[in-house]
Amino acid sequence: MNINDYKGVLVYVEQRFGEVQNVSLELLGKGRKIADELGVHVVAALIGKDIEKHSKLLVEYGADKVLVMQDDNLELYSTEPYTQAMVQAVNSEMPEIVLFGATSIGRDLAPRVSARLLTGLTADCTSLDISEDRMLLMTRPAFGGNIMATIVSPDHRPQMSTVRPGVMTKMERDHNRTGEIVNYPVKIERNKNFIEVLSFEKETEEKQDIQEATVLVSGGRGIGSKDNFGLLYDLADELNGLVSASRAAVDSGWMDHDRQVGQTGKTVRPNLYIACGISGAIQHVAGMEEAELIIAVNKDKGAKIFEVADLGIVGDVQKVLPFVIEEIKKI
Ligand code: FAD
Repeated sequence: MNINDYKGVLVYVEQRFGEVQNVSLELLGKGRKIADELGVHVVAALIGKDIEKHSKLLVEYGADKVLVMQDDNLELYSTEPYTQAMVQAVNSEMPEIVLFGATSIGRDLAPRVSARLLTGLTADCTSLDISEDRMLLMTRPAFGGNIMATIVSPDHRPQMSTVRPGVMTKMERDHNRTGEIVNYPVKIERNKNFIEVLSFEKETEEKQDIQEATVLVSGGRGIGSKDNFGLLYDLADELNGLVSASRAAVDSGWMDHDRQVGQTGKTVRPNLYIACGISGAIQHVAGMEEAELIIAVNKDKGAKIFEVADLGIVGDVQKVLPFVIEEIKKI
């Protein structure tokens, strides 16, 4: 098979308990842009059970074709059956590019699929571009985040990558878009790698995802202690937002790691990001600079965070935040 025989972009549509995940819509948006640049089509691989109802949504967010792959063995995510399904999707579509979200599922599935297809995989990408000779330029942090490496796959197809949630933008939903919906007769073999998942126990405590929040009040080392984060929770409550943190605050044990913003944390894109006592290190900024409005509170007027902030308040968070909370309460 010649590498020029591979055409198009294939996006793995991640669903959990029947819900399509945001990252897949983001990837459809990015896939759409790449496909338009290359003059090819975007196919969405929708894998699961009783999930056909989502096909239209995927078309409205940029897919030209939806490959619906349904089977009893695909009801709950498990590596082997989903690998078999994705390999069949690739063999049927012969795409030049395959995209997965860099989620716990995508990070498990993509390497298996790439190994089975004997092609490469660039994990945890933060940007994707097309070179002049039509190759996918896959950029990701390397050497512990100290450099950004752009990786190409000149000799193998498909070119595969996992992409961080939150870094790509969804296409605006177009209710008038039309596309082809194909029910693919997927075949799942219960081979020696097959593990039957009987059920998933959901976490009892409802975890809130900072990537879904429209307002984030974020604290750094300058907050001083876990107790002092109470002020940030008060402000977040007033604004219907969530609290997030810098790595320094997480490493100090003031916040769970799943609330860390930045290169080794999460990439967020809220409407409002309030950075409190955060210096603005490049690794932190990489995770929040796409926020629509950034407000920074820092007692050091030379802090780097002010370079990305739309509005800066030079002052002590312990004095500024109580004042801001009181003023908001008056509204
Ligand atoms: P500091 O840099 O110590 O800044 C504290 C700030 O608070 C200062 O600007 C100070 O002026 C201000 N301040 C102090 N007291 C007050 C007060 N009372 N009121 C107002 N302001 C006050 N960092 C991340 O955040 N996310 C990541 O994902 C991440 N990944 C990394 C990956 C690698 C490979 C490396 C090497 C580093 C990474 N870092 C990450 C760490 C990053 O380099 C910084 O060390 C970290 O972001 C600093 O956190 P901070 O801004 O909270 O603390």
